[in-house]
Parts: sequence; structure tokens; C-alpha cells
Amino acid sequence: MTTIIRRGQPIYAFSKDNTPVAHVNTGEKVVIETYDCFEDQVTSDDTSYDSIDWNRINPATGPIYIEGAEPGKTLAVHIDRIDIKDKGVLSTGERLGTMGHRLKGLEFKIVPINNQIEFNAKISIPCNKMIGVIGVAPKEGAVNCGTPGMHGGNMDTTLITEGATLYFPVFHKGALFGLGDMHAAMGDGEIGVSGVEVGGSASVHFEVIDNLKINYPMLSNEQGISMIVSKETLDEAAKSSVEEMIDFLLPQTDLSLAELTMLMSAIGDAQISQIVDPKLTARFFVPRWFLNAYSIHSI
Ligand code: CA
Ligand code: ZN
Repeated sequence: MTTIIRRGQPIYAFSKDNTPVAHVNTGEKVVIETYDCFEDQVTSDDTSYDSIDWNRINPATGPIYIEGAEPGKTLAVHIDRIDIKDKGVLSTGERLGTMGHRLKGLEFKIVPINNQIEFNAKISIPCNKMIGVIGVAPKEGAVNCGTPGMHGGNMDTTLITEGATLYFPVFHKGALFGLGDMHAAMGDGEIGVSGVEVGGSASVHFEVIDNLKINYPMLSNEQGISMIVSKETLDEAAKSSVEEMIDFLLPQTDLSLAELTMLMSAIGDAQISQIVDPKLTARFFVPRWFLNAYSIHSI
């Protein structure tokens, strides 16, 4: 059985107070349709700032209530497939991203997508389909979909792609999951403030895990696992992603804290996800061969 969630009425904040658009069971195939981060309001390179309703930015489709997801448990989201539309939009401008102090106004560039992204006559960009906004209801209050945090949200992490599994701490019954803001491609950092923004659909299935304790979203793929942490500064995010990963791994090994730290210093990678959103996101990556050596198969 497949459940299709149409993009109709998106959410603009993750919150326990949102009304679920669907209830799904673990293991069920769920296809989630999404708008692009501008809710498809950018229709040409000449689209003006004033013609856009800025209250409708970063829409996510959801929330989806997952049966069996309880506070204290962990929600696993398996991203089985991502399909994107045939037209993307890039953007940057004044006070946006890392170059905003030297740019004037707001610029858009619409690009055709057919297997590759046709940037101009010389440049075709290989697709790296990924999901920018993905998360669950946060512990407290409402967090707008443009801001990342412990609940996920706008993590803009290139690894969130087909074949990856994301793990979220569950804060509320049903988890109240949502996603949106797909990119046909994005570089680590997302330095100009956008990827190649695109609408599409994600095919996922959920799993609820009892005995996996994480404080932040974690990602697993063939290469290994990444702890994804968002903070006010990139320094804090990077250091915290290391510490959260070490605290996650330590009880699953026979190593001392100093031994594990030495090992992680030798084989782990501190990486940048994005440096342009209201909170900045870093991740700490640990290769799968380490997990195999310690028979850490839970992830
Ligand atoms: Ca984003
Ligand atoms: Zn985006």
C-alpha cells in the first residue's frame, strides 16, 4: 500500500500544534509531494521581490503522524527515492548568504533540468537531488521551516539524498514529520543562500526505534554515519557535532574517552552543511568500517 501526501496546504513551521494531514504506519510506503522553497512563486528571472509573498517561504508538506512514534523513541526515515521537476531556480542578493554585502537587490535564475542542470551554454551541473527541510515537531514552541535545530528542519545537508536514512529524536506522539525544500544540486555551505531549488516528491518509509538515544538528527548511508548539529555559530555546531557523536559511540565500544577521541581525531571528519540559515549546521562523519569493527549495526 502506498500513501500519497499531496502538497496542497503546507506548513511554514514545525510545531506540536499542527494538525496531521495523514496517519501512517511504520513500513508503509509514503510519497510526499513538495513545492520549491519559494512555493513555486518564482516564474521567471525577472520575478520581483514585491511580487513574492514572503510568508510562504520554505513550505514543508505535513505533518505526518507516524503510528507508534512516542517521545523518547527515535524515528528513522528511509529516503527510498527522490523525483524532481524539470525546472529549478537559483537565487542570491543583498544581505543574503556570504556574498550579500557585495550584492545589490535580489536575483533569480531559472534553469532547465533534464538529468543535468543547464546553468548556461558552458556549464551543465550534475544533479545531486537532496532534501533541504526535513524534520519533526520540536520539543517546545514552533520553529519556522527556515531554521534548523534538534528537530531537523532547514538542515540543508547534501547527504540527505536517495538511499540515506535520517534518525530524529521524537518529542511528541506521532512525531509530526514533514519535509520540503528540495534541491537538484547544492554545494556544502550553500554559500549564496540557495541550492538549485526545485519541487518534487520523496518516497520514504518510516521505522520507530526504541533503543537508540540521540539528541540531534543523525544520518546513515553506505559510507558511514553523520551527526548533524545546528547552532548560533559554525564553531559551536562543529564542536557539538563531535561531542554528540563521541557520546553516542562511547558506550558501544570498549574504548576509553581518550582512546575514542584519539581515534575520531584520526578517522572522523568535521564537515560543513550550511553557513547561511538563521542557525548554522555542521556534521561529524564516522566511516562505516569503524562501525563494522565494533559491530555497531543499529544504524
Ligand atoms: Ca533550505
Ligand atoms: Zn532550498
